[in-house]
Amino acid sequence: MNALVQLSQRLSERETFSLVAVLALVGFVSFCIGWVTARTHKKGREDSLPIEMLPGFFWSADAQGNIGYISPNVCTYIGKTAETIRNDWRACVHPDDAAVRDHTWQVLRESGSPQEHDLRIRRHDGVYRWFHSRTEPLHGRNGEVLRWYTVTTDIEDRKQMEVALERNEQELRLTLERIPGMIVVNDASGELDYVNKQVLDYVGADISELRALGWAERLHPDDKERIVRGWLDCIEYKRPQYESFRLRRFDGEYRWFEVLNQPVLGLDGEVLKWYALLLDVEATRSAQQAVEQSTIQLRRLLETLPAMVWTAAADGEPDYISQRVLDFTGHTLSEIRASGWAKYIHPDDLQATGLIYRNAMKKGILYDSEHRLRRFDGVYRWVHVRAEPVFGETGEILRWYGINLDIDETKRAQEALRERDKHIQLVTDTLPGLVWSSFPNGTPSYLNRRVVEYTGRDLAYFTSSWHTMIHPDDLDVTIAAWERSIQTGEVYEIEHRLLRFDGTYRWFHVRCEPLMDSQGNVVHWYGLNTDITDRKNAAESLYRTHAKLAKTSQLVAIAEASASIAHEINQPLAAIVANGYACSKWLQNEHANIDRARLSAERIIRDGKRAADIVHRIQALFKNATPRMTSFDFEDLIEEVLRLMRAQRATSKVVLRRDLQEDLPLVRADRVQVQQVIINLIQNALDALQDNPPQKPAIMIESRWNGSQLTVGVRDNGAGLNGTENLFEAFVTTKENGMGMGLAISRSIIEAHEGKLWAANNEPNGAAFFFTLPLY
Ligand code: ADP
Repeated sequence: MNALVQLSQRLSERETFSLVAVLALVGFVSFCIGWVTARTHKKGREDSLPIEMLPGFFWSADAQGNIGYISPNVCTYIGKTAETIRNDWRACVHPDDAAVRDHTWQVLRESGSPQEHDLRIRRHDGVYRWFHSRTEPLHGRNGEVLRWYTVTTDIEDRKQMEVALERNEQELRLTLERIPGMIVVNDASGELDYVNKQVLDYVGADISELRALGWAERLHPDDKERIVRGWLDCIEYKRPQYESFRLRRFDGEYRWFEVLNQPVLGLDGEVLKWYALLLDVEATRSAQQAVEQSTIQLRRLLETLPAMVWTAAADGEPDYISQRVLDFTGHTLSEIRASGWAKYIHPDDLQATGLIYRNAMKKGILYDSEHRLRRFDGVYRWVHVRAEPVFGETGEILRWYGINLDIDETKRAQEALRERDKHIQLVTDTLPGLVWSSFPNGTPSYLNRRVVEYTGRDLAYFTSSWHTMIHPDDLDVTIAAWERSIQTGEVYEIEHRLLRFDGTYRWFHVRCEPLMDSQGNVVHWYGLNTDITDRKNAAESLYRTHAKLAKTSQLVAIAEASASIAHEINQPLAAIVANGYACSKWLQNEHANIDRARLSAERIIRDGKRAADIVHRIQALFKNATPRMTSFDFEDLIEEVLRLMRAQRATSKVVLRRDLQEDLPLVRADRVQVQQVIINLIQNALDALQDNPPQKPAIMIESRWNGSQLTVGVRDNGAGLNGTENLFEAFVTTKENGMGMGLAISRSIIEAHEGKLWAANNEPNGAAFFFTLPLY
């Protein structure tokens, strides 16, 4: 465009120059003619004027137009005498221009006023050159034309220039037509001079319509006043106009244009033309608007982000802060720039933050730091600051984009959590037990201090080898129970011995409960091991004391019973003995006294019977322990028996199984006595398994109900029985410390309940004892 304007300006200057030159010349010549006319009139002479000295041809003619005077340079130029020229002036004029001259002379004669025209005059060498001819009349006193004076000036150069100019102008116009923009040329006063085709196409009008209606009418109403005023100002102050406005298209749609309206000045500094280039910027503007829109949105986003957003130049100096930074610090960007960020950082955090900052700046890496930042009210709050550099094409840092997140609440929560953790740690460490936890798959995840102190092992050791800490005799059962819990999610509860750091084992009661999620999946296991060695020892010694006591009391009871039996039986026995002596004495003499002997014998029989009665009575004593009948749940009874016998069972490795029929009706019997029977049978089985233990010692308790009676069995896989009959007799025992009373008493109890107790060999080995109880 610039080149175009320059070109047009250059052309215009040349054009202007020529025009000015011509006009100046014409003015000068007119002045000369006036002067010559005056002189001629005064002196009445035509041929002795120094007019030949003047540039130009001079002619005069009479009122009718007949050539009179011809300046000599005309003759020289044409190469003919004045006479010849006068006679055939047409021969000197270009054939195409003769008519123009005729017409001019006609007008001259009719109007009597000065006339001008251009014509080509043939030079002596046959070359036609352009001349400008101006003819003025010399009037008589009555206003009539006396003579005509003509001055003819060579304008060949100007003409050629005009032609060149016209050609150039044509080329220029062609160029303008092809420019992908709209060109408007106005004259100095602002009148429309020229528009290119693009303008006409756009407005859908021809230039005359445009001229008639003017531009303003096509401007958007919102832009009209501003543009018109601007345009008038430009005309007045001759300064270029740069504007944006909306211009109506032929279809009524307004589109945005940018106009550059440049004045072209002449040599005198006056405006010759206004050249305006209008560019359709609708698309750019929409794009720009879209960019502006997205910039606004981005800014809005940045402002609404719940974080302090900022950017900084490559050297770290902030160049943008979001509203939240302003709200937090209470300071503007320029204030922050002036003081620097460091002023807002807590003095205690300054050193560490400075290190991170310098490192990030030096290496151009992410700046990531947590520190306290001073708020507008002087309160320091924890912030998490992250800033990333953006690099240029050559790898240099262009800018930093940063974000500060207020993490004060989180920090406090973390602090509280840490405190709580410490507290929990303290609690778990001081708990009088070994506290541990494990992942859902059973891998240990935590041990309290006491576990580490007791075992002398740390978590890493437990993770790989916890089973080495369990007593070998308890290991299988422990692993089985733990695996079952891991699989089923059931509470894990067991008692086992755990190796202490000094190589001794102690008994622990272990209970581990799962923490479940809402779907019932185990999230974690939490376990507590309680040292029960002392309790266990106490229970055992208690049991042993009980056993001893029971045995002692049994012995005492038997001793007492024996004493009373002896006492009771002693009397009839003494009487029997005495009567026996007497009877024998009565029969020894020659004079045997048969009657007396018979009497003694009868007394012996009587006392013998008495002794037998006493024995029967003692038997009846065992038999007739009248039961106290109550109704009870048989399964409960078994549970209780097992609980009572826990101590005995704990010392052995015997596995106790139950096979109890479900839905049993309540049993009606003397609960304590039946319990005694079962305890006795289980104790016998335990004794049998301990004396000669099999590989997997086991006891099975079973119950069956056939509708009228309950059959209870106690089986073991011990050594078994040598015959089954005399077992139930009193004082039959194979044990060192045995009394041989258990089975006898048990049978008498069961029989007192109208049931039966018997023994059998168990298959494939061991003993089996059964008893029945009728159900009511
Ligand atoms: P004690 O238990 O004092 O010996 P019992 O009358 O209870 O008295 O038992 C008598 C005997 O019967 C026992 O000494 C033992 O020889 C035998 N006996 C009892 N139960 C069993 C059993 N389950 N297996 C092998 N022998 C048994």
